[in-house]
This record gives sequence, C-alpha cells and structure tokens, in this order.
Amino acid sequence: MNGKLYLCPTPIGNLGDMTIRTLEVLKSVDLIAAEDTRVSAKLLNHFDIKVPTTSYYEHNKREKGSYLLEKLLNGEKIAVITDAGMPGISDPGEDLVRLCIDNSIPVEALPGPCAFATALVASGMPTGRFAFEGFLTVNRKNRLAHLESVKNDTRTLIFYEAPHKLLTTLKDMLNVFGNREITLARELTKRFEEYRRTTLEDAVHYYEETPPKGEFVLIIKGADEAKLIEEYRDALPSAEELLRRYSSENLRAKELTRRVADELKQPRRDIYNLYLKIKDTL
Ligand code: SAM
Repeated sequence: MNGKLYLCPTPIGNLGDMTIRTLEVLKSVDLIAAEDTRVSAKLLNHFDIKVPTTSYYEHNKREKGSYLLEKLLNGEKIAVITDAGMPGISDPGEDLVRLCIDNSIPVEALPGPCAFATALVASGMPTGRFAFEGFLTVNRKNRLAHLESVKNDTRTLIFYEAPHKLLTTLKDMLNVFGNREITLARELTKRFEEYRRTTLEDAVHYYEETPPKGEFVLIIKGADEAKLIEEYRDALPSAEELLRRYSSENLRAKELTRRVADELKQPRRDIYNLYLKIKDTL
C-alpha cells in the first residue's frame, strides 16, 4: 500500500500560528523531510515532536526525492516542512509533489502561514487578481527582463526580497514600472511587523536613508489599464493615415474601410463616414 505526502506549513515568525492539524500530522508521520534540519529542530523541539527528520533542499532534491519516493512506495507517511511558511512557495516541495503525483502517491496540503497571502490581504492593493512573482534573480539582465515581462500586467504584483537586495530591487522597479504604489510588508507576524504603504519613489528615498532590516514582501499596484489603452491608441496610426496608406492599393471603398476599421478595432460605420469626407483627397 502507498504512503502519503503531507505538505505542512510552519510559522513565518510567530509560533502561535502553528495549526492544531499541522501538529497532529507532524506527530503522526513516519518521517519529516525538512529544508534545514537544524532550523526545524527548534520548532519540533518546541512542540515536542519526536519524529525522525531528514534534509530535503534545493541541492539534494534529486537524490533525496528518489529516497523519499521509495519510502512512500513502501507505505510510509512523510511530511515536508521548510524553514518557514508554505512548502513549495519559493521553497522546496514542488518537485516532490510532481514525483508523488507521477507515482500515484496521494498528496495532501495543509493550509497555514504563507508570507505573500498574509501581506497581500493587508496591503490595501486589489486582491481580486494578482501575480506572485517570487524572488528576482541576482543577475541584473535577467532581473530587468523579469520586470519588463510583467510591466504591462494589470494584476497586483507580489515579490519576495531579502533586506540586502531591497534597495537595488526598488530602484530597478522604479526604472521599469515608473512611480507606482507599493506596500512593503516587513517582519510579518513578528514583534516589529510593519506595513509601509507608499510609492516606489518614496520607498527608494526612505531606504536610502534607513538601511532595510528583516524580511520583506513587496506588493505593487498593477499597470493602469486606462493608461495602457491610451498608450496603445497613441501608438496606432490614425484612421486617416491608414486610409491614405491603403488607398494606393486600389481597394474598393468597402474593402478599404473594413481593413482600416479591423486594424484599429473601430466601428466600420465611423471609418466609412471619415472615408466619405476625405475621399476626394485620397
Ligand atoms: N515558503 C515561504 C512562504 O510560504 O511564504 C517563503 C519562503 S522564501 C525562502 C522566504 C521569503 O519569504 C523572505 O525572503 C521574504 O520575502 C518572505 N517572508 C518570509 N517570512 C516573512 C515574514 N515574516 N515577513 C515578511 N516576509 C517574509
């Protein structure tokens, strides 16, 4: 009989956020796969959990994945935990889940602490549609390419960032996105929890003066849809320009106006009326 994989979220700062069900599952499994066994030992000791642990992290996930799979296929129950928060969210877990699914091992995720969901709901930014973007890479060219790729996304954007890279990231964001609204959520659930609801420009000024400390989630307002449409319209040639351009192709009036209307996504009737006004000058 196959075992089962449990994804167990752990507190992101406040031990009181450990759920009763997560504790029950952690106490009941045969093995706990932890991102860093020394970090997790403190948590497990605190809750008097005496289950054996093994490490499972980015650089051993291939060999360890096979090892854990064999145990699961032998019927063992295994819990995955990371240093903090939800496994699989900018943390190990995703590959093991895939491995289990491919081998018909049941997977159960327990709800619980996750930094980006916590930050988003208190940020004051729209929560209806959002894009979680995780960490930007250190390589500058790739970071800028990443930011460019979401520049025109109208959903709320969410990033994780470490304090020593925060200022560079904010400057890059200001360059690529312009001066958008941002909420910096810092040290969530901890003693010095803080939400700084401001703009990218002010955030850059603030952190130039005040060296950033602690862990950050950055919640950035999505692109302004009305502004994007305006920019798109401005970039398009005018209907008159297009009528003049295509009139040299000797198209019939109906074909000419349909082509221009379709290209500009404007009503054919409006383009036809314009055509009637300028047809003698074409
Ligand atoms: N799996 C975790 C989760 O569910 O949120 C994320 C792990 S990722 C390696 C660590 C990053 O999450 C930090 O660099 C920071 O951006 C964010 N983070 C974690 N704990 C946080 C906290 N208490 N306050 C603010 N951000 C936090």
